[in-house]
Order: sequence, then structure tokens, then C-alpha cells
Amino acid sequence: MDEKVILGKEEWCALPELGLPAVKARVDSGAKTSSLHAFNLHEFEENGKRYVHFDIHPVQDNRKIIQSCRGRVVDRRSVKSSSGDKEKRYVIRTPIQLGEQSWDIEITLTNRDSMGYRMLLGREAMAGRTLIDPDASFSLGDIGNEQAKQYYHVAAPKKNGLKIAVLASNPDLYSNKRLIEAGEERGHEMRFVNISQCYMNISSKEPQIQYRGGESLSDIDAVIPRIKPAMTFYGCAITRHFSTLGVYCLNGSVAINKSRDKLRSLQELANKRIPMPTTAFAHSPVETREIISMVHGAPLVVKLLEGAQGRGVVLAETNKAAESVINAFKSLKANILVQEFIKEAQGQDIRCFVIDGKVVGTMQRRAAPGEFRANLHLGGTADSVRITAEERKIAVNAAKAMGLVVAGVDIIRSKDGPKVLEINSSPGLEGIEDVTGKDIASLMIEAIERNIRKKKK
Ligand code: ADP
Repeated sequence: MDEKVILGKEEWCALPELGLPAVKARVDSGAKTSSLHAFNLHEFEENGKRYVHFDIHPVQDNRKIIQSCRGRVVDRRSVKSSSGDKEKRYVIRTPIQLGEQSWDIEITLTNRDSMGYRMLLGREAMAGRTLIDPDASFSLGDIGNEQAKQYYHVAAPKKNGLKIAVLASNPDLYSNKRLIEAGEERGHEMRFVNISQCYMNISSKEPQIQYRGGESLSDIDAVIPRIKPAMTFYGCAITRHFSTLGVYCLNGSVAINKSRDKLRSLQELANKRIPMPTTAFAHSPVETREIISMVHGAPLVVKLLEGAQGRGVVLAETNKAAESVINAFKSLKANILVQEFIKEAQGQDIRCFVIDGKVVGTMQRRAAPGEFRANLHLGGTADSVRITAEERKIAVNAAKAMGLVVAGVDIIRSKDGPKVLEINSSPGLEGIEDVTGKDIASLMIEAIERNIRKKKK
């Protein structure tokens, strides 16, 4: 028997059959099974054996580097994740190398990047082979993320790649980082453009957009607007100007503007006969009690027209409370919607991510205990969900009614069937990529490629 390998709480290991020469693993004898962070999983059969193909970002905090792997499937197992949810995972068997020694281990594949490590080494895989020194790190030597990168191939820009700008405010947001990485992976030249640092020259002869310091942005092929609510006015103006210059915008300024106004959105949906909760619009002169009875009385929901991420959405449980809330908002001269409360949804709603007329990902969001709003920003949790053909159709039609190429359509399941709550023109990628395990950012880049090709034809 070989000597035991002494491991610290984190170690670099190699999974040679998967083509992974360096992966940083968290060593955790508290966990039974080992897991590897994987996405784009597809099962296939070869010579009567089952395999799974998957992609992995082997280096922590780096999504530019992608390695495609295939592993022999030995099982599919229900595993409880760190968040307590049950998840059916593929189990593969493959050799691991730790220091000088190598042996076969079983690893489950999961798209949840728990604890920030790409890999978790559990006790089953270590049984009898290792000793753990919980105070140590990298007992076998620290390679470091920078050096680990050298082991992997980074895709170079394509010759016929596009110049694509992510038009947003914060380059460190997960969604913005992912879009840049996904574009680079597909061979495009990506850049982050801060909305507030753009300025434009509006003239019929030679309209221009310039960036801080006077750099011209006119040579950009496509723009992905990711405009935060507070920047709607200026962000839409810049997007509109890019369109004037002939730059393809994944979501046009008119559609973004429409979706930012809850009342206008609902009116557009109503116009296309898309189901939504019964809603009344209130402004100061309107009789409060009438508004309340229009939505069949309390419990009801009052929403600020300009609210986002669940802020400005209030539940009034009695008619008395509803009256006070509505009158309070009125006295502040705030524009509000009053909406029937869909109690049977039990604090859950469904986010459908739509790209180019297709639902590419869905997740069910559940409100935190004692809360009825399912927004992730308010502590809601997300899980995978299957939607019905009817829900799919409603989501696609809702995006279309708003004129959005990319949209997050929120649907609530009521006793009378699915209803649209709202439509977001800059839906976040983190939750949906995590839950579905899909590379949604790449699907957005693909949509740009496809639509620019169409435009050229
Ligand atoms: P925001 O744009 O601020 O996210 P929403 O209208 O989407 O506002 O509401 C936030 C959350 O509140 C929704 O995700 C949903 O969980 C809950 N909610 C909103 N309207 C209703 C309603 N009419 N009935 C039940 N729950 C609702």
C-alpha cells in the first residue's frame, strides 16, 4: 500500500482523463461525495457504454478558459446540495492525481459552483488514501491561478469576429462579465462601454458617438444594452443613437423604454390579449375605494410604476390597509398600479428567459419565508422548473408584444392559468445560468451573430 497523501483544506489536483492538468479543489471530509462544477451536460452512448459530455471553466474566477470533457457515467444519483435542495446528478469515474499518487474516484457533476471552488473532494474519494491537516493549505504545492491558466488554451479572436460593446454601468456585474467572456469565447472583440461616459453628436450629416477622451465608437458592429433603471433615459438615448449609426442593438431603445414603464407594458400586453392579473391604474383624482373594488377588494398588491427588483411592491391584506397605502402613495404624487393578489402562487413565480422568440431557460423563484415577493434580490431562492406549452407561448408572445429580442418574462401561476407579471429588458444571468446550467450569455451572442447575418442578407 502506498504511503498516505497528506492534504490541506485546499489542494491542486489533476484529472488527466478529463484533460484537466490543474484544478483547485476544496478538501472536505464533511462531504460524502466529490463534485465538479460542470455545464452544458449531454449524455450519449458509445459501444453500449454511457458517457456524458460537459464543459468546465477549470480556473477559478475565469470563464474565458473552457475545457470540454467526456466522462464515463457510472450512475445518476440524487444529491443534496449545500442549499439543501435535491438534485439529480451524473456520477462519473475517473483517475485523480494528487502529488505523486493516482487512483480512481467517483465525481458527481453539478452546475452549482458551491463555495467558489471548481471541485470538492469528499471523503469517499479519499478513503484510506489520505490524511488531512485542516490547518494547512496546498500541502502538495500551490500552483496559483495565474500559472494554472498556462495549462489551458485560450481562444484567440476570430478573423471575421465582430466588435461588440456591452453598454452598461458596472463592469463587475456577473451578467456583464459573462457577456464579455462569452463573446470572447466565440471569437469576437468585446468591450465594456460605460453609458455615462458616452456622448453623442446629433447631426443629420455625420452623427457620432464618442467615448471618454474623444475616442470614436462608430466602428462597433453590435451593442448589448444592459441599462439599469436609473439610467433608462440616457441609456436609451445612446442606444437609439447607435441604431441611427447602423449598429445592431440587441434590444432597441423603444422596447427598453416601454418595458421600463409597468403601466405601458401591461397596456401592450392587454392589447395582444396576453393574460395578466386584473390591474387598475390610480392617479390622484381617482376614487380610492373604486380602484380597490375594480380588483375585487383586498388582499391586493400596490406597485409603484417606477419600482424594480421588488422594491415598491406592497401587499395590503385588508381593504382598510389598502386604502391607507394607496392614499399615502397618492399624497406623495407617486404613480401606482393596484393589482389583484395571486394568493395561490404562494410566493412563487417563474422567470422565462426569452431570446429571439424562444424560451431558452426557466427557473422558479420562491420568496423567502414571510415574504410574498419572489425577487432574488429580496432573498428569494431559485430552482429548476418545467413550464407548460401554454406558459411558453405566453412568454414568447409577451416578449414579442414588447418588441424585445432578449427578455425576462415573469409569469405567475394563478387558479385561472398563467399570467404575466412583468417583462424585464435586462434580465440577470447569474440565477438562470446557475439553475439551468446553460450558457445563456453565449446564446445572446449567437443571437447577435444570427441577426447581423440576416441584416446583411
Ligand atoms: P418588480 O419589477 O419590482 O420585480 P413585480 O411586479 O415583478 O415587481 O413584483 C415583484 C414580486 O412580487 C414578483 O416577482 C412576485 O413574486 C410578487 N408579486 C407581484 N405581483 C403579484 C401579484 N399580483 N400577486 C402575487 N404576487 C405578486
